[in-house]
Amino acid sequence: MSYELRVMSNKIYVIGHKTPDLDSVAAAISYANYKNKLENTDVYMPAVTGEINLATKFVLDKFNIDKPKILESVSGQSVILVDHNEFSQAVNGIEKAKIIEVLDHHKMDFSYADPIDILVRAWGSSNTIIYHLYKAHNIKIEKDMAALMLSAVLDDTIIAKSPTCTPIDKEYIAELARLAGVEDWQALGIEIFKAKSNIKDSSALEIIKSDYKDYDLRAGKFGIGQVETVDMGDFKGREAELLEEMKKLKESDSYYAVILLITDILKQGSTVLTVSDEPERVEKALEIKFDNNQAYKEGLMSRKKQVAPVITEEFDK
Ligand code: MG
Ligand code: MG
Ligand code: MG
Repeated sequence: MSYELRVMSNKIYVIGHKTPDLDSVAAAISYANYKNKLENTDVYMPAVTGEINLATKFVLDKFNIDKPKILESVSGQSVILVDHNEFSQAVNGIEKAKIIEVLDHHKMDFSYADPIDILVRAWGSSNTIIYHLYKAHNIKIEKDMAALMLSAVLDDTIIAKSPTCTPIDKEYIAELARLAGVEDWQALGIEIFKAKSNIKDSSALEIIKSDYKDYDLRAGKFGIGQVETVDMGDFKGREAELLEEMKKLKESDSYYAVILLITDILKQGSTVLTVSDEPERVEKALEIKFDNNQAYKEGLMSRKKQVAPVITEEFDK
């Protein structure tokens, strides 16, 4: 890092996307730790855009890791974006921040006035990329850091079952499990998803927003949420309540459509709840048929690979 940068700002925040998921929170922590060790400094600070979700809370508690500070805005700050690159998903004030770097595993929709370091790999999680960097630069990984990164990879790849999970992810899951001293990583994965689907005390809005992304398409703004569960029973009977809340959200935040995927990771399929101006176009894109604004689709596991691309193709033309 240049001297000029150091005097401009004494802290560089490493931060994931809005409505943070485990990978984005873990990436902020693990990448800040990596950068501090690599550059022998302490300027890199992990931060989050808002309240952490149930899976993240479970993992931070289990491995005794501090929760990063919540940053309402990064206006005037120096930042590294992890686990996202689109401004629509970034923390408030991003237009007035100095972006130093981007590290991500999503499709790119990013342009910037200055040349900066951008590292994108089409791997299953941001933490797979970060672990790769630790290895490449021979940076020591503490046990708790390995456990955190492992948990994030397991969460993002749905315990290595998602179509987004690559051979590299599988190899690194095994390595991280060894480093973390985790004997049964599948059991850890199930624990994470159990924590995540512990929704009895969550409001419908909290469920919708627990892992939620905005997409600005030509037809209008889409909000797509996903909850992944090991027990579909937790959601049974709450569909009407969820749809009602999605309808409210659609109106208050001027969405073209709000979609919620309830993914059963054991059955490997998803129930799709949708509130949309033109539901038949959503049906066409996803190749489903709604009954009461909902449909089940076998094999549907990934928002990133199986929903966002077909929705973008249909609604961004
Ligand atoms: Mg994420
Ligand atoms: Mg991710
Ligand atoms: Mg995810």
